[in-house]
Amino acid sequence: MAIRKITEYPGEVLGKIGQPVTKFDQELADLCVDMFDTMYDAEGVGLAAPQIGLNLRLFVMDCEGTKLIAANPEIIATDGEQSSPEGCLSVGKVPAVVVRPMNATLRAQDEKGEWFEREASGYAARAFMHETDHCNGTLFIDHLPKLRREMILKRFKKEKNWK
Ligand SMILES: [Zn+2]
Repeated sequence: MAIRKITEYPGEVLGKIGQPVTKFDQELADLCVDMFDTMYDAEGVGLAAPQIGLNLRLFVMDCEGTKLIAANPEIIATDGEQSSPEGCLSVGKVPAVVVRPMNATLRAQDEKGEWFEREASGYAARAFMHETDHCNGTLFIDHLPKLRREMILKRFKKEKNWK
């Protein structure tokens, strides 16, 4: 399959609410293979369709033993709190501490269109929420206070210029 180009901040598609996935066909299965390839190549633990320029509610992840494809994802329950560093392939993996719930339940469809629910804790729960956010046009830096967000973006731009 193929490694796709990652859309970086401030790519317009990253700020859009994704369109629902309606066709669960071979094309979707192939796209998911590409998304896994692209994610592993970039050494990420999750990748959402807007990050490869597609305005679609779809993500893949492989994080601490939780490997799945999620189409039309929703977070249906959360509890607790965690405060850990988080990064994003679209923001050069520059890390920032984001406060999020400790536990999250994801409801989504697999590549065949079957609905499922999955619970996760810690890092994997963080991935559920981070990737579902992407499908809603939200980036992790949108959860940060303005000043910290600007600091992260400054660092990202600086690192980009060095490459
Ligand atoms: Zn991300």
